[in-house]
Amino acid sequence: MRVRSEKEKWAQVVLVSAASVLVSLVATHFVSPAGLNWVSVWPATLVPLMIAPFASLWAGNMILALHRSNLRLEHLLLHDSMTGLLNRTAFFDLFEARQQNVGGTVLMLDIDSFKSINDTYGHQVGDSVIRLVTDVMSETARPFGEIARLGGEEFAMFFPNLPVTKGRDVAETIRCAIEKTALDAGPDTISCTISIGVGYRHDNEPIDAALNRADKALYRAKSKGRNRVEVSETQPSEPAS
Ligand code: GH3
Ligand code: MG
Ligand code: MG
Repeated sequence: MRVRSEKEKWAQVVLVSAASVLVSLVATHFVSPAGLNWVSVWPATLVPLMIAPFASLWAGNMILALHRSNLRLEHLLLHDSMTGLLNRTAFFDLFEARQQNVGGTVLMLDIDSFKSINDTYGHQVGDSVIRLVTDVMSETARPFGEIARLGGEEFAMFFPNLPVTKGRDVAETIRCAIEKTALDAGPDTISCTISIGVGYRHDNEPIDAALNRADKALYRAKSKGRNRVEVSETQPSEPAS
């Protein structure tokens, strides 16, 4: 039986209790030599009512607890524990499922010179920088698209149906917002920058191909001095919007 909420659990208790009373009454009618009469109807009703509600409540609690831990496990499996963003597996799964055929803009994002932040201020501050960058990215981009932490200080985004020219503007907004954000790290205030590569994913195209193009653009942004947005040079023509 499916129990996914308190409401469903109590519905199950009522249903199982009613069913067990009914079965008991029918069984008494057929099995008891005197059949169902005013004497036998009371034990036939009360005995199942003394057992079924408690047994089904216990079972409902177990099933509900199992369902909730399954949801927690599923969340852990698909999300990055530090930032709460989708992880790499979940991001790629998106394209196996609901975003399978949709074209749109992909971004590859990488925090600049992050190793030196770790080396200067320590890993804990480095982690705070990752969380801060995540918050800024989410505020700017989450209403429109999907964000994932691919690993370390690298992120990917996908904006379904967004032309690459508009995707570039979104990337520029994110870059500026991160550049302006300051993090209080003891006596120092840290600011960091991010480089972003932009690519376009065609309808039905494997997502890897578009991410590779965005990644090459990201590499170019790094080699041109970081803290900038570059659009893929080998951009296939996108549909008119
Ligand atoms: P670039 O501008 O070229 O991207 O240089 P970078 O220093 O950002 O890149 P690099 O790949 O040299 O260093 C990334 C560092 O990120 C190395 C690794 O120790 C650190 N890192 C990866 N994951 C985490 C994490 O979860 N927390 C912290 N604090 N550091 C991490
Ligand atoms: Mg980096
Ligand atoms: Mg990196």
